[in-house]
Amino acid sequence: MKGHKSQLPYKICKTCQRAFSWRKKWSLSWEHVLYCSKSCKSKKT
Ligand SMILES: [Zn+2]
Repeated sequence: MKGHKSQLPYKICKTCQRAFSWRKKWSLSWEHVLYCSKSCKSKKT
């Protein structure tokens, strides 16, 4: 699989403003994901 560019989608976390990549755990809910982690989700302003 070397040389195969598989670019994962990413989003910007609403809390920390950092980019985070798609993860398998979000495969079903990616379009609704707004935060990179549980801690950011709990800190939403
Ligand atoms: Zn975050």
